[in-house]
Amino acid sequence: MANPTFALVSAHHLRNHVDGRWVVPETGRRRRNVNPADTADVIGEFAESGGVDIDSAVAAAHRAGPAWRDLGPIARAAYLRRAWQLLTEHREDFAAAITREQGKRTSEARGEVERALAVLDFTAGEARRLNGVTTPAEEPRTFACTFRVPIGVVGLITPWNFPLAIPMWKVAPALLSGCTAVLKPSPLTPHTAALLVQLFQDAGLPSGVLNLVQGDQPAGEALVAHPDVAGVSFTGSLPVGVAIQEAGAHRLLRTQLELGGKNAVIVLADADLDRATDAIVHGAFGQAGQRCSATSRVVVDREVEQPLLERLVKRVSAMRVGPGAAPDTDVCPVVDAARLAACVAAVEGAQAQGAKLACGGRAVPGPGYFMEPTILRDVAPNATIAQEEVFGPVLSVIPCDGFDDGMRISNSVRYGMSGTLFTQDPARIFEALGRFEAGMLHVNRPGVGAYAHLPHSGSKASQFGPPECSPQVWDFYTEWRSACITY
Ligand code: NAD
Repeated sequence: MANPTFALVSAHHLRNHVDGRWVVPETGRRRRNVNPADTADVIGEFAESGGVDIDSAVAAAHRAGPAWRDLGPIARAAYLRRAWQLLTEHREDFAAAITREQGKRTSEARGEVERALAVLDFTAGEARRLNGVTTPAEEPRTFACTFRVPIGVVGLITPWNFPLAIPMWKVAPALLSGCTAVLKPSPLTPHTAALLVQLFQDAGLPSGVLNLVQGDQPAGEALVAHPDVAGVSFTGSLPVGVAIQEAGAHRLLRTQLELGGKNAVIVLADADLDRATDAIVHGAFGQAGQRCSATSRVVVDREVEQPLLERLVKRVSAMRVGPGAAPDTDVCPVVDAARLAACVAAVEGAQAQGAKLACGGRAVPGPGYFMEPTILRDVAPNATIAQEEVFGPVLSVIPCDGFDDGMRISNSVRYGMSGTLFTQDPARIFEALGRFEAGMLHVNRPGVGAYAHLPHSGSKASQFGPPECSPQVWDFYTEWRSACITY
């Protein structure tokens, strides 16, 4: 028998999900969502919700809170395992939905589904490890200990580039910890978010524990402002992260902000250049560069700049741009017209500041939002293209003079998401681990990708608050109690 997740008529998924039911938003406003590879393919008209819709979702989450908290983590983990089972059965359906809505290649969408499964698997296993400690007491006949309690209703605000995995790595720990949640996904990927919520409904999650409100900034702002929301976990751009922090500061809102990146791969003169080429191409042009950890700067020792550039340009010039669903596509579309225009403008701006175009640089005509994979050379470390996130298939190559200069340039940006080094020298490797001003470090491998049990952490303007994934995530969704019991 077909699972109800995909048997449901898609009209349900145009709605919000509040208190266990798919409901029409109060605003009545809608927004058209299209396939970025073919804008004639309309996925649906999704809700543009407002403050009233947020109010009812937060109220539902608030009502569901006490019973959900009292279940305990081991019973709550059973729902995550059921969701894991359903997602396993429907992994191909989810991958196809991600490709259609977000644009990424089918193989990349499958990778995202596997990541979501790993997050569920890891998080469910953590149920038996939500420990505190027992400590010695200062008085006789006294027992002292610590334990964690959920913070309450959480608001989860997510971007469009990982429309399943990022919501999952917020929803899964929120639920396991005993919080109840309101998810406000990106207006560019509402359908995948609706499928995720349906997955948990099919897994039998009690009504009101996980609610979904579709929409954009007005819905996000209302969620952040709601007095019954105890914490906001946000993934997105730096300006919006700062706006959330400011909006919540007056009531000491707990926040977890995962923000942008301007990630460098340093290639030293002794590096394996073929291996570095593979890793840079994967890191820069996978998902058309739309990853917070995407490789957007190559900082290369002048001694090997020319041979590395030749390898990169040869590989990248041969990449095929096309729909994510086509098996021979190497570079998928970017997510929408605004992103495409921003990428083209960033390349033009870089050239105006002295960078040279090594390959690509233009939008590709088509029924969707396609951009040639682009390499810029002779980029100055302080040029705008070397400092600001592009979030598209655009790579800047910056020459350096050895290791110290490479580290200096790599760290000369306000972001600190990932840092990558190619060298054969063990001493440089260990030195770099301490000197990178970035949260996720890679050596002699692509600068993207992480594990569900490692912290998704950034440095400087890339992150604020406890990291996501890994056991560190409990420091956002729970707070500590200490207790002293004299008997
Ligand atoms: P965005 O900041 O424009 O939007 C993110 C979310 O915030 C969306 O759901 C949006 O509707 C909502 N929003 C917008 N204004 C708001 C406001 N004032 N208050 C509350 N919510 C608001 O980001 P995006 O374009 O969706 O995603 C791309 C960005 O996300 C890039 O900067 C990228 O680096 C970053 N990102 C970071 C990570 C990470 O883990 N650090 C992962 C993926 C993407």
